[in-house]
Amino acid sequence: MALGELTKRSRVTDAEETCMVRTAAKTLRAPVELVEAGLVPPERLAELKQVAARYAVSLTLGMAELIDPSDAHDPIARQFIPDAAELRAAPGELADPIGDDAHSPVEGIVHRYPDRVLLKLVHVCPVYCRFCFRREMVGPGRRRTLSRQALAAALDYVRTHSDIWEVILTGGDPLILSPRRLREVMRALAAIEHVKIVRVHTRVPVVAPARVTPALVGALKASRKAVYVVLHANHPRELTNHARAACARFVDAGIPMLSQSVLIRGVNDDAATLSDLMRALVECRIKPYYLHHGDLAPGTAHLRTTIEDGRALMRALHGRRSGLCQPTYVLDIPGGHGKSPIGPSYLRRPNSESDALEIEDFNGGRHLYPPAAPAS
Ligand code: SF4
Repeated sequence: MALGELTKRSRVTDAEETCMVRTAAKTLRAPVELVEAGLVPPERLAELKQVAARYAVSLTLGMAELIDPSDAHDPIARQFIPDAAELRAAPGELADPIGDDAHSPVEGIVHRYPDRVLLKLVHVCPVYCRFCFRREMVGPGRRRTLSRQALAAALDYVRTHSDIWEVILTGGDPLILSPRRLREVMRALAAIEHVKIVRVHTRVPVVAPARVTPALVGALKASRKAVYVVLHANHPRELTNHARAACARFVDAGIPMLSQSVLIRGVNDDAATLSDLMRALVECRIKPYYLHHGDLAPGTAHLRTTIEDGRALMRALHGRRSGLCQPTYVLDIPGGHGKSPIGPSYLRRPNSESDALEIEDFNGGRHLYPPAAPAS
């Protein structure tokens, strides 16, 4: 079946997630659909089935259309098409690599930092990324969408902890919910005085831009809090005209956007691609926020770079691209210890006796700070 024919397919129903109807209509989920769409050769079907039995597979038609099947190293395919390497866990990989569960006081809440919580509304996404840090938790048949009772308990937790300044809606992808459901959540947050900021982590504007309707944008504004949408995008090709228009609908409505990207081997681990991605985001009025080092999720070693590679890429961006294009390179410390910036650092003390520091400029030149006094 060609991609063009798939656009005419009747709606795919998903009994577990009735909120997904609009996305489900244009989504490839079964390995055989990936083969029929010409995205992978038939001889890989058995391999795909093995991986799909372990980890969720989903690819929206918009993303499928970006793939060049003749390119064995296509960066979009690498993010979404299953690979047998996913079945090989590497030493140190963890089912819960960033330690969400260790900081979950009630279902749906992760309270790791003093002033903010994650509120995980759903555990489903329009696409399933092969490098996903929550791959053991997301997907049909994994953890369920928060029930009304669980959501009420989670909101009670936020209500009774006055140190919570910011609530981050995440999952899964919270923008897979209907505008009606989102509006309910935002209105509930509106009534909690100490919550000032609502942040939404999503991949929807790039992978399912048609979901960003005026109703959805209006639902996010229902909290009357400061709302930020943080877009997950990893390759400049993801910022199609449809994606750009979807992002513009948020920004034009007064919702600022930030981005987070994952550094992925074979997708964006070269300076030109990373630079193009950051520039494309800024052109969409999205401030690059985080570049995540790949988490130790099971079966993702083939997609991770080294930290040294990541630091070299950040050096390549520094100074040669506008300050607007500079994300912070971060590592989520395994075990739930939170994120820390991992450099590179441009400042050092040249020796233990020196009062001055040595700072490196973007050309690699080194300078003392404060500068040595001129000889009189
Ligand atoms: S969109 Fe986010 S939560 Fe969903 S599969 Fe991708 S990385 Fe995981």
